[in-house]
Amino acid sequence: MNQSPPPLQLMWYRDDLRTADNPALSSALSAGPVLAVFILDQQSPGIRPLGGAAKWWLHHGLKSLRTSLEELGIPLVLRQGPADSIITDLAGQTNAQAVHWNRRYGQPERAVDTQAKTALRGLGLEAHSYPGTLLHEPWELLTKNGTGYKVFTPFYNALRDGSIRPPLPAPLAQELSISSAIPSGLELEDLELLPAAAQWTAGLAAQWEPGEAPARQRLEHVLESIAEGYPEHHDRPDLDGTSALSPAVRWGHLGAHEIWDALGQLAAKNPKASAGATAMRRQLAWRDFCWHLYYHQPQLPHRNLRTAFDHFDWVWPEQDPQAALHVSLWQKGRTGFRLVDAGMQQLWQTGWMHNQVRMVAASLLVKNLQVHWKVGERWFWDTLVDADIASNTANWQWVAGSGADAAPYFRVFNPELQAKKFDPQGSYVAQFAPLAAVPLVDLKQSRLDALDAYDQMKLRLGAS
Ligand code: FAD
Repeated sequence: MNQSPPPLQLMWYRDDLRTADNPALSSALSAGPVLAVFILDQQSPGIRPLGGAAKWWLHHGLKSLRTSLEELGIPLVLRQGPADSIITDLAGQTNAQAVHWNRRYGQPERAVDTQAKTALRGLGLEAHSYPGTLLHEPWELLTKNGTGYKVFTPFYNALRDGSIRPPLPAPLAQELSISSAIPSGLELEDLELLPAAAQWTAGLAAQWEPGEAPARQRLEHVLESIAEGYPEHHDRPDLDGTSALSPAVRWGHLGAHEIWDALGQLAAKNPKASAGATAMRRQLAWRDFCWHLYYHQPQLPHRNLRTAFDHFDWVWPEQDPQAALHVSLWQKGRTGFRLVDAGMQQLWQTGWMHNQVRMVAASLLVKNLQVHWKVGERWFWDTLVDADIASNTANWQWVAGSGADAAPYFRVFNPELQAKKFDPQGSYVAQFAPLAAVPLVDLKQSRLDALDAYDQMKLRLGAS
């Protein structure tokens, strides 16, 4: 009997560059032979073009994904342009039965995905979306009033107490090969993700190996060492005290479920690791919280969540030459505050900065220098390998005081005290900012000026 081959399935990759614990890929493989697709879409309305460091990561992450997929017998096709029409055309050309993807949660990305779904279904093709990126879908966790959470602790309690599915196993090599011709795609180099100035990326390459296998190795190392004091060492930039998994999580080389589950299993096996595992789970939940905020408040990247801050007299480098100088010295790591300068140098040299130092560097910019948080957010967006729209904007708004569950405005980090507390031997500063520069501002006076500006905001608010 002449049986027709099972129909082709398209796996549409986006922020989930992995093979294991990937619900969309697993479902696609269970339905038929799979062709994987990645579309670089920098032009659909509202999509924020990637920053330089993120593009560098993506280039290498795709290279690594292609190798992992080849081992499974799955070809990866690269395209560039408006993703909804490209995926629809590709599905039509290849006679695919269905397109599978893991959901995205930003408003512009959701609009693209909805358009793709409508267009595919209009052609009589199937479109299936899956929960692959967050521990909980943002609409699943709601307050008693049926709204999204705005405060982390109750959100975390709800997330932790809800059921989180175990990770999916890594797929086996596909048994069925693709019978139709593989459509042509672009070469990785054609996506032009690498900057012209290769000098800058040498530091990134020295620090990171993007991809699923290196990320899993790093996770294993973190699991082995977490009992040695993750909670105590977490805020110390001078120690290897955090997981440094944020870029791997951002690009989906590791699924959040896999990390959550591995931490739970470790804590069950080894009580000494329990405090560390719980602390790291809590950190991971911050990421879900940022995306939860963004889903329920899509203005997060654009507007102050606390609208009172619309009345704050922020300074902008475009309008004020002194602010332009301050921002430029802050970016170059020459503020004179050694911890901040070390952080900004770490960012420039490696594409990453320790969380505690991110908070201190951001506080100096938005409070002591009174520069709008969007200016700092943009710099981080361009230079972080883990640049993530929800985490970046939610954290900047948190530091600025304009966020949902923000630090109180009067909490102005003192970079000198922070350095004493979290880099007590000065080894972090010695590594990244060995030379002292002249401080840009007087810490005491600029703190008082910031508090005064905050009072002025409240007066303006009262008068409006
Ligand atoms: P660990 O402490 O080991 O935590 C494990 C994982 O939890 C991380 O890999 C990350 O995925 C998540 N996580 C931890 N802390 C946070 C947090 N505060 N918010 C969200 N997720 C968190 N993180 C990004 O991934 N992308 C960004 O663009 C980003 N911008 C930031 C901007 C500012 C101003 C600040 C203060 C923080 C920002 N963060 C951002 C959060 C945090 O600094 C990084 O995720 C952290 O440095 C990652 O280090 P780690 O992987 O060693 O984390």
